[in-house]
Amino acid sequence: MRGIIVNIMAVMIDLHNHSHYSDGVLSPSEVVCLAKESGCNVFALTDHDTTDGLAEAQQEANNQQIKLIHGVEISAMWNNMTIHIVGLNIDKNNPILCSGLKQHQDFRKTRAEKMARGLGGAGVVGAMEKTRALAKTDMLTRTHFAQMLIQEGICKDMKSVFRRFLTGKKPGGVGGKWAQFDAVIEWIHAAGGKAVLAHPLRYRMTNTKIQRMLSHLSNAGLDGVEVITAYSTDEEITLMSKWADETNLLYSCGSDYHGWGNQRVQIGRLKDFPNTHRTIWNSWN
Ligand code: AMP
Ligand code: MN
Ligand code: MN
Ligand code: MN
Repeated sequence: MRGIIVNIMAVMIDLHNHSHYSDGVLSPSEVVCLAKESGCNVFALTDHDTTDGLAEAQQEANNQQIKLIHGVEISAMWNNMTIHIVGLNIDKNNPILCSGLKQHQDFRKTRAEKMARGLGGAGVVGAMEKTRALAKTDMLTRTHFAQMLIQEGICKDMKSVFRRFLTGKKPGGVGGKWAQFDAVIEWIHAAGGKAVLAHPLRYRMTNTKIQRMLSHLSNAGLDGVEVITAYSTDEEITLMSKWADETNLLYSCGSDYHGWGNQRVQIGRLKDFPNTHRTIWNSWN
């Protein structure tokens, strides 16, 4: 019977999305409405290092009768590199998770001051004030600084921002001081959630290194990996599901929707899994 229902009703699931509580453009309510409009049945709000948008998102999800998964995308260090771990189905009030996120929010404040000073040294006047003015949150991300540089006519788009600023030794570049991956996985588990590695093919790593990272994270308790993202090709999906199987990780999927004008990403418009028996949501149904 269950199989028949699944066959009749297309289940559209998107487990990675942003609102203006981090670097997304839309409010949590607007993102939830958009998810509903695009026919998404299960939707996660996963802002960077904050769960502050979830209360508003939940209210709208109740109005719209859409299933909201409480999520968060947490920055973490692996091998001296920044990676992103998505926590899904978390209790946003868990004290261990809250104190971990508070650390990251504090780091973002001192990092923003340093980024602004770095940009100042490169001739960008009033970087902090101008960035604060366009952000709807006081938790600034590099995306907010990037938007400011575009608005000021200093760069033409995001790509050119990250080519000239905000990374490595470039002006405004500040090394990540996020918690280690194993601690981040623990915060998520303490909050009753599942820990999923975000966009595995977006890190600047060779395939061998990605596989080593998956295996290492899995040994530290990681539950899943995003096998399908907005731009995944069929070949990438096949490859990622193979690596997920080899490292005993469940499959997740998410668009990483931010709502930027130039981002060709839609909520819930993801490819289908070749098979669904290893999906992360099976583990919480
Ligand atoms: P943060 O977490 O503050 O370091 O900001 C990271 C965010 O900046 C990511 O989640 C992306 O949304 C964005 N970002 C980082 N690198 C790039 C890039 N090369 N092009 C476009 N956006 C980027
Ligand atoms: Mn982002
Ligand atoms: Mn990310
Ligand atoms: Mn994201």
